[in-house]
Amino acid sequence: MLEDNTTCCGKETEETLIFDTKKCPICGNEGITVNRITVEHLVQDIYQSEVKKDGFRICMDENCDVVYYNPEGKEIFSKKQINVPIWFKKDADPKYACYCSKITEEQVIDVVVRQGARTVKKVNILTGAMKNSSCLTKNPLGVCCHKIIQDIIDKELAKNK
Ligand SMILES: [Zn+2]
Repeated sequence: MLEDNTTCCGKETEETLIFDTKKCPICGNEGITVNRITVEHLVQDIYQSEVKKDGFRICMDENCDVVYYNPEGKEIFSKKQINVPIWFKKDADPKYACYCSKITEEQVIDVVVRQGARTVKKVNILTGAMKNSSCLTKNPLGVCCHKIIQDIIDKELAKNK
């Protein structure tokens, strides 16, 4: 059984997020390091051959169209070139909370509001989130969605105080 602080891939999310000083070439904000395997799986098929080197980063700015960029290979992939909507980018539709099980932010909020879920564990049981763990190839950050779900719960609970 999953403990509250257990992630679906058995690792703490924080550890896998490596902040880096290398900046997005378009908006200038610092991106987060992303595994090349993640990029390969999420860009559209026609761009897959352009993903050759390690060193990819993801731009976290919600208003920036850039998703992945690689200072090494000078590659840039924008929102339109990615197979899934990036949840933290403006106009993402749908906004997935868990990419592995295709659970949306809306579904998470729904079980928090209507069914009184207060923990990630409860949300997972009620929505079926985090059942199929393939974070590395499905989540745009290549990390477990545990933290994303926790953030949605926290935000929703703060609203209803
Ligand atoms: Zn950017």
